[in-house]
Amino acid sequence: MIPDISSPLSLPLSSPLLAVENLTHRFGALSACENINLQLYPGEVLGIVGESGSGKSTLLNCLAGHLAPSEGRVMFSTRHEGVVDLYKISEARRRLLSRTDWGFVHQSARDGLRANVSAGANVGERLMAIGARHYGNIREEALHWLDRVEIDANRIDDLPRHFSGGMQQRLQIARNLVTKPRLIFMDEPTASLDVSVQARLLDLLRQLVSQLHVAAVIVTHDLAVARLLAHRLMVMRQGQVVEQGLTDQVLDDPQHPYTQLLVSSVL
Ligand code: ADP
Ligand code: MG
Repeated sequence: MIPDISSPLSLPLSSPLLAVENLTHRFGALSACENINLQLYPGEVLGIVGESGSGKSTLLNCLAGHLAPSEGRVMFSTRHEGVVDLYKISEARRRLLSRTDWGFVHQSARDGLRANVSAGANVGERLMAIGARHYGNIREEALHWLDRVEIDANRIDDLPRHFSGGMQQRLQIARNLVTKPRLIFMDEPTASLDVSVQARLLDLLRQLVSQLHVAAVIVTHDLAVARLLAHRLMVMRQGQVVEQGLTDQVLDDPQHPYTQLLVSSVL
């Protein structure tokens, strides 16, 4: 049980932040994800679990505006422009929304950080991308966010490659939360880390998500990660959703034989 995160049962009173309708994505003849439907409400954390190759990252990239689905649509409730059909708007607008309205934490810092600029600039440039111009304020905000992800202020001018793996992931989180999005996508955020470092990152993520009331979609092959962070789970197998429900229900009393296998082989 996660006492400090509000119950997902109370969430559907508001309108969804993200609504996915009949989404399919094909790579040639392969359906990487097929006929996916989901809704995500403000403050809710959805875990997408399944083995490697089950289509989790493909789905996440479709949700986050990186990959146009072959069929179906992704409706997103923006901060300032109402609900948009993510792939009906221009690429430029989609890219801007990806800076203002949601964040994306990659498995590897190589994909999620800019290697040739400092930690402070990695965070601050996200504020500049949404119009911040005052250097002192940007630096102050960057320092505040480095502190929130437990990176010491005296590292602000260091390049990310001088950071440990765990620090790099924490820096990605700061970079993606500095603009205060209502939603953050994460693709295997802890998978490249040692177990002890994973625990610290998970703890931090749990705290931030609940304090900021930010919604999240977290892709992981690790059921322990899903258990700790997600209110709700979607289990994928070969591009299809085989089971979904509240996290504790799915993991403690799985209904589908595939979920039963997954749970019994890992937990
Ligand atoms: P997961 O994240 O669950 O490991 P992926 O979404 O990466 O799964 O992959 C789902 C399926 O789509 C796999 O069979 C994978 O080989 C295939 N796939 C992923 N990306 C591409 C691509 N760019 N081109 C062709 N096939 C791809
Ligand atoms: Mg993946």
